Amino acid sequence: MSSEAPSPRSVLVTGGNRGIGLAIAKAFLANGDKVAVTYRTAGELPEGILGVQADVTDEASIDAAFKAVEEAHGPVEVLVANAGITKDTLLLRMSEEDFTSVLDTNLTGAFRVVKRASKGMIRLRKGRVVLISSVSGLYGAPGQINYSASKAGLVGLARSLTRELGSRGITANVVAPGFIKTDMTAELPEETQKDYLSRVPAGRFADADEVANVVRWVASDEAAYISGAVIPVDGGLGMGH
Ligand code: NDP
Repeated sequence: MSSEAPSPRSVLVTGGNRGIGLAIAKAFLANGDKVAVTYRTAGELPEGILGVQADVTDEASIDAAFKAVEEAHGPVEVLVANAGITKDTLLLRMSEEDFTSVLDTNLTGAFRVVKRASKGMIRLRKGRVVLISSVSGLYGAPGQINYSASKAGLVGLARSLTRELGSRGITANVVAPGFIKTDMTAELPEETQKDYLSRVPAGRFADADEVANVVRWVASDEAAYISGAVIPVDGGLGMGH
C-alpha cells in the first residue's frame, strides 16, 4: 500500500446549496476533494466550495456548469445527483404536470447530469456516480406516486450504467435515505411526521450528515467493488425493500 495521500478529486453535487446536498459537499470537502455544487438561486456557500448555476431540467445550463467545474477543478470524477423535488398529492388529485415535472427533475435530471459526466469519466477510466433516491422509491408512499416512480427509476439507471461502464473503473450506486431533517421534510404536516416516526425502527429521524458520510464512503476507493447497489440510510424503515 502507498503511504501517499490520495490526490484530490473533482466532485460535483447537484442541488448542493442546501439540505442533504450541502452536507454531502461538506463531507467531500473535509475529505480533501475539490468540490463544486450546483445551485438555482444564488446564496451563501461555505468557503472552499465552488458554486455553479444549473437547473437539472435544462441541458444547456448543465453543460455550462460542467464546463465551469472542468475549468476550475478538472473533469468530474465523482458525481452526486442529489437535486430533487416533491409534489405530493393523492393519485386522483395528481395532474399529469405534477407527475411529469417531478420525473423531469428527479429522474431525467439525473440522466442529464450522468450523461454529461460520463464523457469525462470514460476518458479518465475512473469515476463514481451516486444517485440520491429515497426509501419511497422501493417501499412506496401514499401521495408520492410521482416521487416514488422517479426514485425507483434511479435504481434502473444505476444498474444499467453499471453494466455499460462497470469495466471502465466507474461505479454507479444508489443511496436511499429515509426521513432526514431538511426543508423538504419540514414542509410535511405534523401528523405525517408522527406517523413516519412511529414506523422508523431507529425511533428518530436522521441528520443530513448521516447520509453524507455514506455517500462519501461509497464514492471512496474502499468501495471500488460496490456497484449497482441500493444503500438504505433510513434507520430500518424500508428493510427488505
Ligand atoms: P431540499 O428541498 O432541502 O433541497 C433540494 C435541492 O435540490 C436544492 O438544492 C434545490 O435547489 C435542488 N433542486 C431542486 N430542483 C432542482 C432543479 N430543477 N435543478 C437544480 N437543482 C434543483 O431537499 P433535501 O436536501 O431534503 O433532499 C435532497 C435529495 O434527497 C432529494 O433528491 C430528495 O428527494 C432526497 N431525499 C430526501 C429525504 C429527506 O428526508 N429530506 C429523504 C429521501 C430522499 P434550490 O435551492 O435552487 O431549490
